[in-house]
Amino acid sequence: MRSKLVAGNWKMHGDRAAIGELLTALKAELPSEPSVDIAVFPSSVYINDAIKVLKGSPVAVGAQNVCEYAGEGAYTGEVSAAMLADVGCRYVIAGHSERRALYGESDALVVTKVKRALDVGLTPVLCVGESESEREAGQTLEVVARQLNALWDQLSVADLGSLIVAYEPVWAIGTGKTATPEQAQQVHAFIRSVFAEKDANLSNEMRILYGGSVKAANAAELFSQADIDGGLVGGASLNAQEFSAICRAAE
Ligand code: PEP
Repeated sequence: MRSKLVAGNWKMHGDRAAIGELLTALKAELPSEPSVDIAVFPSSVYINDAIKVLKGSPVAVGAQNVCEYAGEGAYTGEVSAAMLADVGCRYVIAGHSERRALYGESDALVVTKVKRALDVGLTPVLCVGESESEREAGQTLEVVARQLNALWDQLSVADLGSLIVAYEPVWAIGTGKTATPEQAQQVHAFIRSVFAEKDANLSNEMRILYGGSVKAANAAELFSQADIDGGLVGGASLNAQEFSAICRAAE
């Protein structure tokens, strides 16, 4: 039985005071023993603050990005997977569409980041999804398959035990346009079938999150689909009440 996960991607939002208020409000709003997993992904400079404030709460902390190089080295501006694990992160996002589009991250680079995370015991959240023009051209499944196929060049089935996939149609991110539950379920079922071709257990146990304008008003319907195991939430995760309501919808 897969447990659901609701993850809040705070992107490059907030300052120390605002993040502090959001963390305090989250602690007050969220149930102390939720039946779903919950995580927040602050900007890297606030990860330590989040870990301190959320200590003893059921909310885990993740990073929005990770360096593709292992170990230490002359990689100015980068944060390694080992450093994230060292300060207490549990998750890391790899391949968010904003990083693919704005920073030119390729499928292969994204998978290297997944590997770095797995190597140090972090749980990677691998984002995949098609653009609006790709959907209109009927290429959704082809694009998602290509993004997933990059995994097999660098990772074995055994490596992928803790992988989480987030299906995030690019046209639904930050736009207020949400995939319908049927559209999302179709792609989630496809993603599960891609993994099933490699290993039935991996496929059955792997959590697949939906992301793209999730809010309290649409979360319950999305999360009730057979292959949707929670959500990766952007904008709505910056409001403690809205995010808590989304977490409750997953319960
Ligand atoms: C995201 O950034 O991963 C996301 C899904 O954003 P939003 O919920 O704002 O669409």
